[in-house]
Amino acid sequence: MSVFDIKNLPTKSNNELDKPLIMLVDDEVENINVLRQLLEAHFQIITGLNGAEAIELIDNMVDPTKIQLIITDQRMPIVTGVEFLEKIVDRMPDTIRIILTGYSDTQVIIDAINKAKLYKFMTKPFDPVELSMTVKRGVEAYQMRQALVNYAANLEQLVEERTEELHEKNEALNQALTSLEELSLTDQLTGAHNRHFLKKFIPQELAKLKRELATNPDESIGFLMIDIDYFKKVNDTYGHDAGDNVLVEFTQILTKCCRESDWLVRWGGEEFVIVARGQSIEGLELLAERIRSYVESNVFDLGCNQSINCTCSIGITGFPFLNNHFETLTWEQTLNFADLALYLAKNNGRNTWVSLLENTDYNYSELIKGGNCFYENVMKNLVDLIELQQVIYRKPIADKQLKF
Ligand SMILES: [Mg+2]
Repeated sequence: MSVFDIKNLPTKSNNELDKPLIMLVDDEVENINVLRQLLEAHFQIITGLNGAEAIELIDNMVDPTKIQLIITDQRMPIVTGVEFLEKIVDRMPDTIRIILTGYSDTQVIIDAINKAKLYKFMTKPFDPVELSMTVKRGVEAYQMRQALVNYAANLEQLVEERTEELHEKNEALNQALTSLEELSLTDQLTGAHNRHFLKKFIPQELAKLKRELATNPDESIGFLMIDIDYFKKVNDTYGHDAGDNVLVEFTQILTKCCRESDWLVRWGGEEFVIVARGQSIEGLELLAERIRSYVESNVFDLGCNQSINCTCSIGITGFPFLNNHFETLTWEQTLNFADLALYLAKNNGRNTWVSLLENTDYNYSELIKGGNCFYENVMKNLVDLIELQQVIYRKPIADKQLKF
């Protein structure tokens, strides 16, 4: 038979529900009634007539942690007060636990304090004022702990939210930085890479090349320096917007002619550089010829229903310029040789390409040792070096003899 009486459950009146919920457990109904009279003005009260019944009551509650305080008798049949509290302590650790008993054995007190984590041990007969005060203080302690727990939970939630916010802001910042970097490495008009890109990424490409050369001595990085012929005339005749249209369309053609792994760099104005990996000099010349003929046959849309034909000139070279002499020339110096080759193409009627390369039959070791300035020599005395066959050039087969 359940000793828990439905009448003992909290009433539904709002006023009643506002009161703190406490539990009284005693095997003597008289004792329960005395306690009830003393406390019911300030608390909602539920009762049990022994430990087992109180546990059953707790088991049937949706949230037993709502019980803020329990006063239990020690001497009860089946389950003693200490045993009862011990059984529920893990489920409701914050509930204040008070034992009220006439049985004042020291061992029971010690057991109760240790096992049931007791708030207070009171002996019968009790002083009503003292008991009333103890219950009030106990409930206050419970509520203060709940407030602290809630505060900590809120704080944790707040920290979590702030951390999430911070994370989101970091993400946004990283994205902004990435797009800023992309912006600073990309030519705004054409979408091609810019000089910064080449300067930033070529060192790691050179390091890779150096490693690869150990197993494949023919590896190189090809440079094509490309310039639109008479571009200034386009700007002067049709205006800068028309010139910009040509540059954009020109970039599209170069992109189509390149492999995905090649780098297309707008070097400045109407001058572009293609950096191509894993191409022989013949491969680079084929690429140059493909670009030359594509540009020659293309009709460039200037906007406003106007269009023109354009041509371009191309200078070709590869790094390392001297095979087996990786350190003799820098990549910038080698690129200047491509510029020199471009100059030769311009000087020989434009709409053509010229490549400058080493003479593989020549022994450069003697030439470059002792601080011989090979680079300065090429830049100043190219004709002499070509005569000496220290540098060779190539051009399309159909072109006339090269003029210097
Ligand atoms: Mg008893």
